[in-house]
Amino acid sequence: MSGLFDLTDRVAVVTGGNGGIGFGIAQGLARAGAAVVVAGRREAKNAEAVQALERAGAKALAFAGDLKDEATCRALMERAVSGFGRLDILVNNAGIAIRKPPEAYTLAEWHDVMDTNLTSAFACSTAAYPHMVAAGGGKLINIGSMLSIFGASFAVAYGASKGGIVQMTKGLATAWAKDNIQANAILPGWIDTEFTRTGRAQVPGLNERVLARTPAGRWGSPDDFAGVAVFLASAASDFITGAAIPVDGGFSTQG
Ligand code: NDP
Repeated sequence: MSGLFDLTDRVAVVTGGNGGIGFGIAQGLARAGAAVVVAGRREAKNAEAVQALERAGAKALAFAGDLKDEATCRALMERAVSGFGRLDILVNNAGIAIRKPPEAYTLAEWHDVMDTNLTSAFACSTAAYPHMVAAGGGKLINIGSMLSIFGASFAVAYGASKGGIVQMTKGLATAWAKDNIQANAILPGWIDTEFTRTGRAQVPGLNERVLARTPAGRWGSPDDFAGVAVFLASAASDFITGAAIPVDGGFSTQG
C-alpha cells in the first residue's frame, strides 16, 4: 500500500482486538502495513487473533490484561514500544454491557461498565500520550455506539459510558492537537459479534427491528470497520479531529 493510507512502519494497539469489531480493525490496520498489538483478558483468544494476523503476513503481538487497571494500561503501551519500537495508533475498543433496567443496577455493575468502557479508554489514552509525543504525533480512535446518541432503557450505564466516549474524544482532540495527535470516535450501529449474538438470541424481535430500521438492510460485520479505522489512523485524516463517525448502515439517519 502506498500514499495517504499507508501505515507501513506504524505501530497500533487495539484494545479488545482479539475478536469482533476490534479484530476487524486490527486486520484492516495490519493490511495497511501497521504492526498490531492485540489486547484483551483472554490469553487463548489473543493468541488466536495474533496467529491469524501473522498468517496474513502482519507483525503482531498479544497482551493479556484487564484494562480497568491503570498500571495494566501503562504496561500495554510499554509492551508496544518494547516490541515494535514506537507507538502511533491507539484504538480504544474494549467494552462490555450489562443489560437490565436502571432500578435493577447495583453501583458495582455501574462502575464495571463505566470503568471498562470509559475510564480504561482515558487511562490507555494518557498512557499512550508520552509515546505518541516521542513518535512526533499519533492517532486515537475511540469506539462509541448508537447509544452515544440515543437512550436505551436497558443500557443506561452503557449509554452514559458511550456518550462519555464522544465528549472525552473532543476533549483529547482539543488538548493534544498541539502534539499532532488526532482523536476521533467511531459509532457502530448494530454489528454481528459475540456482544450482540446473545442479545439477538434473548430478545424476541430484535433481529427484525434492527433490519427494519437499518437502511442498508443488514447487520454490520467486523470487516465494515477496517476502512474507517485505516482512514482515521492514516495521514488521510490529518485535519480531522474530535469527530464522531457513525458506521451504521444509516441507522442513525432516521428517528
Ligand atoms: P466483543 O464482545 O466481541 O468484544 C469486546 C472486546 O473487549 C473483547 O475483545 C474483550 O476481550 C475486550 N474486553 C472487555 N473487557 C475488557 C477488559 N476489562 N480489559 C481488556 N479487554 C476487555 O464485542 P464487539 O466487538 O461487538 O464490541 C467492541 C466494541 O464495540 C465495544 O466497545 C462495544 O461497546 C462497541 N459496540 C459494539 C456494537 C455491536 O453491535 N456489536 C454496537 C456499538 C458499539 P476479553 O474478553 O478477552 O477481555
